[in-house]
Amino acid sequence: MKTFIYLISIFIYILSNCDSVEASRKSRQEYEKTGHVIWDIKTNEKMVALTFDDGPNPVYTPQILDLLARYNAKATFFVIGSEADRNPSIIKREYREGHEIALHTYHHVYNFHSNKAEFKYELKKEANTIKRITGGYNPSLYRPVAGRINDFIVQNSIKNGYTVIMWSWHQDTRDWESPGTNIIINQVISNTRPGDIIIFHDSGGERKQTVKALKKILEFYNKTGYKCVTVSEMLFRSKSIIPQ
Ligand SMILES: [Zn+2]
Repeated sequence: MKTFIYLISIFIYILSNCDSVEASRKSRQEYEKTGHVIWDIKTNEKMVALTFDDGPNPVYTPQILDLLARYNAKATFFVIGSEADRNPSIIKREYREGHEIALHTYHHVYNFHSNKAEFKYELKKEANTIKRITGGYNPSLYRPVAGRINDFIVQNSIKNGYTVIMWSWHQDTRDWESPGTNIIINQVISNTRPGDIIIFHDSGGERKQTVKALKKILEFYNKTGYKCVTVSEMLFRSKSIIPQ
């Protein structure tokens, strides 16, 4: 009996300390039901949320901000904490110009499985960085790196007070692969629906195509009467329009 208890306790110890155990993954529908993981927003209003990952970048982010300003469009920037520390003036400008700044971890961490302390450290360190640079803004949204989610990430995001933001599956521009400006433009324009969350990248490589495509996409939204709003504003407006 003693040996049995001993073996069981070793087994429990291994389970609770093993980082390589892949946390289980539910279906999109199951995560959506929590109300804390979002791919698209249900709305009839002609609005979309443009989102940019991996910045701020000293070359491309200011060009993107100039375009957004020209078309009176607001966007959400899922920034990397360490990059924010390197480019605080761009974070300040994003904030000053009415864009939303959101979390993407401090060190661009791809996988979290069971290390709660590491998860909390990555998000809190980034949130504190943004709070310090902006003089008090507290981000509430988090996009997991590469959109990788599992039960551990979802549960711990909720526990730490963050909403997980993915992106519309019909709106993945894959601009990080530089597929060609026209491909990015057509991907977005031909698939646009009210409530879309559209993913771009303003850093992590050359982003000339993203900038060029964005100009045409903003022209299209301007012509067709679509508003470009932050993710939080779209969430808020959709809740006030369609009773949940
Ligand atoms: Zn990323």
